[in-house]
Amino acid sequence: MHQLTLAEIARGLADKKFSSEELTKVLLARIVQLDPQLNSFISLTEDLALTQAKAADARRANGESGALLGAPIAHKDLFCTQGIRTSCGSKMLDNFKAPYDATVVAKLAAAGAVTLGKTNMDEFAMGSANESSYYGAVKNPWNLEHVPGGSSGGSAAAVAARLLPAATGTDTGGSIRQPAALTNLTGLKPTYGRVSRWGMIAYASSLDQGGPMARTAEDCAILLQGMAGFDPNDSTSIDEPVPDYGASLNGSLQGLRIGVPKEYFSAGLDPRIAELIHNSVKELEKLGAVIKEISLPNMQHAIPAYYVIAPAEASSNLSRFDGVRFGYRCEDPKNLEDLYKRSRGEGFGPEVQRRIMVGAYALSAGYYDAYYLKAQKIRRLIKNDFMAAFNEVDIILGPTTPNPAWKLGAKNSDPVAAYLEDVYTITANLAGLPGLSMPAGFVDGLPVGVQLLAPYFQEGRLLNVAHQYQLNTDWHTRTPTGF
Ligand code: GLN
Repeated sequence: MHQLTLAEIARGLADKKFSSEELTKVLLARIVQLDPQLNSFISLTEDLALTQAKAADARRANGESGALLGAPIAHKDLFCTQGIRTSCGSKMLDNFKAPYDATVVAKLAAAGAVTLGKTNMDEFAMGSANESSYYGAVKNPWNLEHVPGGSSGGSAAAVAARLLPAATGTDTGGSIRQPAALTNLTGLKPTYGRVSRWGMIAYASSLDQGGPMARTAEDCAILLQGMAGFDPNDSTSIDEPVPDYGASLNGSLQGLRIGVPKEYFSAGLDPRIAELIHNSVKELEKLGAVIKEISLPNMQHAIPAYYVIAPAEASSNLSRFDGVRFGYRCEDPKNLEDLYKRSRGEGFGPEVQRRIMVGAYALSAGYYDAYYLKAQKIRRLIKNDFMAAFNEVDIILGPTTPNPAWKLGAKNSDPVAAYLEDVYTITANLAGLPGLSMPAGFVDGLPVGVQLLAPYFQEGRLLNVAHQYQLNTDWHTRTPTGF
């Protein structure tokens, strides 16, 4: 049962082959049995899951239907869940029970999804290896000595290990697409504003976006359908109608113009990944796509710009954690300043503190123009590059990451080495564009992802291309040994 995709589960439930309660019990038992190897969950919500599963079964018995009705999922632990710990992977929020549900959580619950638990993540979503979590590193089910990617590494590892069919993630600079690539999943970062950020604990507000992580594009379409839509509670949510993503899966790729940026194939890319990307291009050509070389000339500036803008916004967002209103408070503060300093010094881990310091520095008077404003100008140039490219092509294709999953601990002493792994993903966040990563093969037994980018609100096009590719390849069906 644990091998079933969301689409197969929906059919099984509709045909009364099993109930949501039965499925939920099987998966909860599997998590208890196997997750100690992976550490992909921070909290299991058994009681809530069984209540939701029984309610979904009752709704189906009353004639209701729906792809998510009775479907087991999990939420990255930065989506607020009412009355349930919402830790953001941090000691700062270890004792925080959210007083309300995030819009994404509420929408999926209303559609009948069953929440099995909250998944592990890099502290405050800062990282690309899931090693900065207060709850310990997550292991990659493809090789337990390797990282699963981050920051949505818990969602990725759990879905890849067939502990559940799908989970939510968030992507500020790649945190859905990169762990999806490193664990053989399909993950989609929607257009900025497509999915509500209300109740999603903020890292860098102008970049953060929630989205689906699953094994297939078809399942991403199902989960995205339940997440997307305008939300008056989020002032950056966009009031655009939500298309039927399932209906977009089956379009023909005949004549689809795919742009491959020449800058993507530079020295930093593992040549074995380059070869797999070229193979995926050939596969799409067979399906009728037309390939064109394009250029994104400002890509080289993306990492420095992102690592100014994201920490700047983080330093502002995280100022609310002062030991007074939320979360961790130090013991016996001597005075107010001591309370602030020690609560933040003890509550935040080293990567979060590093980002707050970089961000506060970049925003300080005297450096603001030189760093923050400059980075914003680069951000516009990067967006302009994409706008020019999308005048010529329908989709941009390239690698999701320059390397496969690295060994646990390998980049711990050099944060910049980890930042460089984000080179292909962060440009989509800087421009606000939708992006998807899908399985494209293996290097040394470790999964490799191919990334697709599309114009604003063309999530359906991304899912269409990925689904057609998955109908003709079987990379996404491979299961890690032992799971
Ligand atoms: N690795 C990037 C960072 O550390 C992206 C993280 C994310 O998307 N949340 O900022």
